[in-house]
Amino acid sequence: MTFPTKSEINTSSLPRKNLCLSVVEPNIKDKASSQELDMILTQYLESLYQRKKYHIGYPTNMSYEHHAILAPLLQFSLNNCGDPFTQSPVDFHSKDFEIAVLDWFAQLWEIEKDEYWGYITNGGTEGNLHGLLVGRELLPGGMIYASADSHCSIFKAARMYRMEIETLNTLVSGEIDYEDLRTKLLLNQNKPAIININIGTTFKGAIDDIDLVVQALEYCGYSNDRYYIHCDAALCGLIVPFIKHAKTITFKKPIGSISISGHKFLGCPIPCGIQITRKSYVNSLSKVEYIASADITISGSRNGLAPIFLWYNLSMKGHAGLKQDSKMCIENAQYLKDRLLKEGISAMLNEFSSTVVFERPCDHKFIRRWQLCYLSGMTHVVVMPGITREIIDSFLNDLMQERKNWYQDETTQPPCLADDIGSQNCLCSYQKMHY
Ligand SMILES: *Cc1c(COP(=O)(O)O)cnc(C)c1O
Repeated sequence: MTFPTKSEINTSSLPRKNLCLSVVEPNIKDKASSQELDMILTQYLESLYQRKKYHIGYPTNMSYEHHAILAPLLQFSLNNCGDPFTQSPVDFHSKDFEIAVLDWFAQLWEIEKDEYWGYITNGGTEGNLHGLLVGRELLPGGMIYASADSHCSIFKAARMYRMEIETLNTLVSGEIDYEDLRTKLLLNQNKPAIININIGTTFKGAIDDIDLVVQALEYCGYSNDRYYIHCDAALCGLIVPFIKHAKTITFKKPIGSISISGHKFLGCPIPCGIQITRKSYVNSLSKVEYIASADITISGSRNGLAPIFLWYNLSMKGHAGLKQDSKMCIENAQYLKDRLLKEGISAMLNEFSSTVVFERPCDHKFIRRWQLCYLSGMTHVVVMPGITREIIDSFLNDLMQERKNWYQDETTQPPCLADDIGSQNCLCSYQKMHY
C-alpha cells in the first residue's frame, strides 16, 4: 500500500508565522477596546482587498458582490443537521433551499428526482469521503483505485476507512494511465473495485475518461455489481457540462456518485460542496437514531447558510451565466498559455480545463506574492471567474521582469519539464538543442 506525497502540495504544509493576534479583553470603562477591534477588522479587510488581485494559484471564485444582499441571514444560526430529506425538529434550517440546489445538480447530471439522494457538504473533501464510504458499504472488502494525481482527500479516506488502495500511474496530461488500470484490476480480480475518477485533477486539471474506465472494468471481467465509480468533480464539475464537445458527466453511465466543491468554480463565501448518489445505494449506510432522522451524512451539524448562497448564485447566473463563465475562463487560460509559450516559457493546458501548468518560479517571494503552489518543477494558475486579462497581464509582466534576474547568467537555467508536461510543451534549452 502506498500513499503518494506527489499531490500533497508543498506550500500548504509549512507552519504559519506571525501569529500576533490575541483576544481583546473588553474594558467596560473605556471605548478603546471596541475601537481596537474595529481597527483590527478594518486592517484585515484592507489586506484581503489587496491580496484578492494576487489570488491566482488556487481555484476560488471570489466575484460574488451580490451576496451582500444575503448579509441579514447572518442574524440567524441556520443548521441543516442530518438528512436534507427528513424533517428537522427545529425551524432554523434551509433544507428547502438545499433540495432546490440538489435538484438542479440532479438535472445537470441526468438523474431523476426520485432516484437520487444527496446533500450539501462542507466541501469536495467531504463529498469524496461520502462517495467512497457508499462504495465501501455496497462492496465490503473492495479496493480503492485512484490515480497518483488524485486529491489528497482520497488517500485520507483510504487511511480513515482502513481500506486498501492501489495508486494508478498517470499519463503526462495527468489522466489515469488506462493500461496501468487494466494491469492492476487483473492483479486484484478477487476483490471488488471502488474507483475514483477525476473530473479535473487538482494540479493539472486533467479529466479522466469514464468510458475508458468502464471499458477497462469490463475487459477485466468485473460485472456491474462488482465495481463502484466515484467521480471527484470538485474542480471542473461546473465547467465540463457547459463546454461543447466535452463528454457529459451523467448518471446514465454506470457511476455511483459525483461530488463537487461549491466555493471553487461557482463561488461561495463559505466552503461547501454538493454530493449526489443513487437513492437505492444510501439505504445500505448504517442508521443512527439521534435527531429523529436516519443520519447518513458525514458531519453532524451542517452549515445552513451555504445552501442559500448556492441557490442564490445558481439562480442569478443560470445555465447561460455558467456557460459564459466557463467559456471566458477557458479563453483566458488559453491566452495565458499562449503568452507564456511566446515568451519561451514551458506551459501546458489540458482540453476543457482552465488550469495552466508552467515552469516553477525560482524565487520564494514571487511565489508567495502570487500565492502559487508548486510540484517539482511546475506551478499552475487556475483561471477562475474574476481572474481578468488585466490580472493575467500584471502577473505576466511581473514574471517577465523577475525572470530576467533569475536567469541572467548561464549557470542557472529554467527547469526541463519534458517528463512533467510533455516534450512538445517544454521549451527549456536542453529540449531545444535535442529536438
Ligand atoms: C479541491 C479539490 C478537492 C477538495 O475540495 P475541498 O472543497 O477543498 O474540500 C477534491 N478534489 C479535487 C480534484 C480538488 O481539486
